[in-house]
Amino acid sequence: MKPYDFPDATGHFGPYGGVFVAETLMHALDQLRQAYAHYQHDPAFLAEFHGELHHFVGRPTPVYHARRWSEELGGAQIWFKREDLNHTGAHKINNSLGQALLARRMGKKRIIAETGAGQHGVATATVCARYGMECIVYMGSEDVKRQAPNVYRMKLLGATVVPVESGSKTLKDALNEALRDWVTNVEDTFYIIGTVAGPHPYPMMVRNFHCVIGEESIEQMQKYAGKQPDYVLACVGGGSNALGIFYPYIDYENVKLVGVEAAGHGIASGQHAASLSAGQVGVLHGNRTYVIQNEDGQVQETHSVSAGLDYPGVGPEHAWLKDSGRATYVGVTDEQALAAFHHCCRVEGIIPALETAHALAHAAQLAPTLAKDQIILVNLSGRGDKDINTVATQAGMQL
Ligand SMILES: *Cc1c(COP(=O)(O)O)cnc(C)c1O
Repeated sequence: MKPYDFPDATGHFGPYGGVFVAETLMHALDQLRQAYAHYQHDPAFLAEFHGELHHFVGRPTPVYHARRWSEELGGAQIWFKREDLNHTGAHKINNSLGQALLARRMGKKRIIAETGAGQHGVATATVCARYGMECIVYMGSEDVKRQAPNVYRMKLLGATVVPVESGSKTLKDALNEALRDWVTNVEDTFYIIGTVAGPHPYPMMVRNFHCVIGEESIEQMQKYAGKQPDYVLACVGGGSNALGIFYPYIDYENVKLVGVEAAGHGIASGQHAASLSAGQVGVLHGNRTYVIQNEDGQVQETHSVSAGLDYPGVGPEHAWLKDSGRATYVGVTDEQALAAFHHCCRVEGIIPALETAHALAHAAQLAPTLAKDQIILVNLSGRGDKDINTVATQAGMQL
């Protein structure tokens, strides 16, 4: 097998990816490509990035054998990669940190970002405070209402949160608004995109900042489990935590890679966020990928109980991994994810993010079909403290 080598020089993963943006952004993207191409291999840049991951973020995160849950299921051994133990409680800070360091080297002092649930906004506000940079976060006005604690966190960290009133007033509209800001202020502004989407080089660059997750896993699984996992599972919203753990495993042919999308109220209900399982090929936010859209190419409203998976597109590299067969993608409903959330709390003493609970639900379905000496490694993308209001509401309670 040829080693996996994507994207190509033009930012394509097979037919996916590329650069679909206004002419006015071409120069900024060229600048970014050149800067990243240089610093990606610069020893001083890499030393600073990894030093900050260690001292500020708290890496390496451990791998953990979920013994009680595995025993109860009676099949494969389930292990977690503990991204929930990172500073700010999820994987997202790996990427925000990398891009902020790059912005500093490029002399850009103003940072903009988009956020849905507010997790990427908080991670970006955190690194901006750390480096004394101005931070503006675009957020749909619906999300501003739904995610008040994260809005306040960003403000505590010194960021300005701008509510977006257009469209459905959610994540995709915040992304559009951030792109508009960037067009206007390209000279002094760096746009930190929060997942493996957007125009080239973002999908590649965000993946590379996150692949520390899989690189650590490969070392740690050899050391603590004595071998590599048979399956690696991760939830997929835009797809950044999934690619962070998948990418270093792609050339390990015996390791099966499974992405878990939000099936919401069920694919048949039309109320879901499963772009790969139920979308069509289209263009969204600067790249070609699978998109949840109608026959006229209008982007459709999505639904998931977990705000972080509620996005109508998906990173273009996942589209390619799906078509090429190297990874497979499945859907898990709100109901199944909530059941896995509660079970993980009680059996393992870990409150997982609702996004992560989708991957856990699939692990619990898969484990009993496998032998006891097989291993499923789940990327535990984040902790669930942010979700306790949602979970309580689902259970008919109010906090
Ligand atoms: C944002 C988020 C996700 C979804 O984003 P990806 O880019 O698909 O990783 C998943 N888990 C957690 C905890 C998140 O905060």
